[in-house]
Amino acid sequence: MPHEKRYKSFHNIETLDFIVDSIDALIYVIDLEEKRILYSNLKAKEAFGTIDGKVCYEVLQEQKEQVCDFCSLAQKDFPLQVGATYKWENYNPITQKTYLFSDQIIRWYDGTLVKVQIGIDISKQKQLENEMMQQRDDALDSFEALTNATIEGLIILDEDKRCIFVNAVAPKLFGYSAEEMIGKPATYFVAKESQALVKSYIQKRDKDPYESLLIRKDGSKFPALLRGKDIMLGGKKVRISAVMDISTMKEKEQEISKLAYYDPLTALPNRTMLVDRLNQLIHKSIRDLSYGALMFIDLDNFKTINDTKGHLVGDLILKECAKRISQIIRKYDFVARLGGDEFVILVDTQTPDKGIAISKVKSIASKVLERLRIPFIINQSDFRMSASIGIMMFVDEEYSIDDLMRYADSAMYHSKERERGSFSFFNPELQDKMEKKALLLDKLHKAIEEKKIYLHYQKQIDKDENTIGLEALARWQDDELGFVSPSEFIPLAEESGLIVKLGEFVLSEAVHHIKSWEEDAEKKNWHISINVSLKQFESYSFEDVIKQVLQRSEIAPHKLKLEITESLFLHNIDQAIEKISHLKNLGVSLSIDDFGTGYSSLSYLKKLPIDELKIDRSFIQDILQDKNDETIVLAILDLGKKFGFNVTAEGVESEEVQQKLLQMGCEYFQGYYFGRPVHISKL
Ligand code: C2E
Ligand code: MG
Ligand code: MG
Repeated sequence: MPHEKRYKSFHNIETLDFIVDSIDALIYVIDLEEKRILYSNLKAKEAFGTIDGKVCYEVLQEQKEQVCDFCSLAQKDFPLQVGATYKWENYNPITQKTYLFSDQIIRWYDGTLVKVQIGIDISKQKQLENEMMQQRDDALDSFEALTNATIEGLIILDEDKRCIFVNAVAPKLFGYSAEEMIGKPATYFVAKESQALVKSYIQKRDKDPYESLLIRKDGSKFPALLRGKDIMLGGKKVRISAVMDISTMKEKEQEISKLAYYDPLTALPNRTMLVDRLNQLIHKSIRDLSYGALMFIDLDNFKTINDTKGHLVGDLILKECAKRISQIIRKYDFVARLGGDEFVILVDTQTPDKGIAISKVKSIASKVLERLRIPFIINQSDFRMSASIGIMMFVDEEYSIDDLMRYADSAMYHSKERERGSFSFFNPELQDKMEKKALLLDKLHKAIEEKKIYLHYQKQIDKDENTIGLEALARWQDDELGFVSPSEFIPLAEESGLIVKLGEFVLSEAVHHIKSWEEDAEKKNWHISINVSLKQFESYSFEDVIKQVLQRSEIAPHKLKLEITESLFLHNIDQAIEKISHLKNLGVSLSIDDFGTGYSSLSYLKKLPIDELKIDRSFIQDILQDKNDETIVLAILDLGKKFGFNVTAEGVESEEVQQKLLQMGCEYFQGYYFGRPVHISKL
């Protein structure tokens, strides 16, 4: 049908015309086949002139030859069917206005499809919106400037928890570009370990800061403090997340905890951490009925190396020990340094079978001993070490930490006493022994303090049976224990260091008596021998103490005789010889006690400025029956003669022995035959 006709037919409806013209909107009816405008209202005509009957794109798009922009339905592949509606916005360059169009397809009375298009001028709203957009952009600019100035990474997530904004810091934290981050889900940047945590915080919309582990583009992880907040932005609900890298803080935290829980020298856990782990192991062993073991390791000769070679060497050895021990233990076990040269291993045997548990523990202990026996090479020098180990096993008993430590420690001492470089398991009898020893030590302490130790003197005579001197021997009578033998308390005093005090007491007593006999016709030429223990001899002050005592008392120095033993020469011969020479220079007499038992090389003898050798009584006692003893005694007498030392035979208990020794050429004697050690008043 020609368009004019259709157009006319429309105009017959005048009332409608009036209504339509009075509406403040552009209204067209467009033939969808020819794109011709069948009708336009007054507003449309005001905007574009008389356009009825024209092909719409020619009029409305300045004669352009292409399909009209306005015929959006045709353009957009919309199904051109009755009832289809479409809303769209368009800026018209002719009127320079923006319209919001609402299209609807209807069937025209002649059966063809037409589009009724109503356009409202929304230019004003658009302008307003643009202004707002501009303002928003400005706001965003300042927001960006602000966010970039923070040290935290800021990420804005949309409702789907995908990144829609990152500040300048965030990409640096993660190693991505900002573009790479946008669009990615938040969890993309979270390490597997923290995924669940982060998701739950986001879901709960929690605002509290929390720590989690994040992941960088290169796969490396870093600890971060996260804070999130849900806000409305531009009418949409978003979540702002602040990310702070706390690696340095964590490192510092770790350093601090290291100081509290680790030994700075070896980097092994310290006592505090050990106590913690031991508690856990005790409870685990009760719960699972599986055996645990506490293993005390003490280096045998560390102190000597530390004292003679210096602390730097000592430290290097300890570090190496820590390394070697750590290499042995299995993943369930734990090693700590208690301090000094003491290490501890906690063994979780993971078995309720005592036999298996013991064999596991033994295997670890043997390995430790073996590894520590390998020479330590430090500054091109070889150091040989050994260790003694004490082991306490526990299973279903609630031991206190203190008890376990004490038991393992006593087992360790047992190893040291029995055979250095070995291990022992704790047993109750052992504990009994240790406890008695501890009690004895305690009493000894008090006895020395309260001057309950006293001296007995035993005569030393020459071949004509003239007394030439006395040996001072310490005695201890305890109120409860009764008489305690020197062979029991002297080693204890020695071990605990009490011997130094005890020695000073003996020295002052001896000097006091020598002094008091100066006017005594019989005794004024007597010397007094005192026993000097290794610890005493090695103590720094020993020489000074002797010097002072001699000066103060003004006795003839040679009347004081120091009995030393060969054990002095086992450690550092040169140092010992030097010290002995200094003592000799003070004028005192020197004697080597228990000679022949020390297994020391005899080569030191020629260098020593000593006066006397005392043959140990073990060679004297059976001399009448034992040919070997006789040979040894002869050799010692010969040695004495050659080097110019007096030789004294100790432990002479009978006349026969004295006669035998006299025949062999011995000139000096000491023993029960001539008199037991007695109180000074009984001499
Ligand atoms: P020692 O220095 O070899 O002393 C000699 C020991 O032999 C003394 O034992 C003495 O009583 C004992 N004795 C003497 N004659 C005979 C004898 O004919 N037969 C037997 N069987 N024994 C005899 P004591 O008094 O029990 O002392 C043992 C050790 O304790 C001493 O051996 C000495 O090494 C040490 N000692 C004693 N008093 C002191 C002290 O004040 N300081 C230090 N450092 N050690 C001391
Ligand atoms: Mg002696
Ligand atoms: Mg002796």
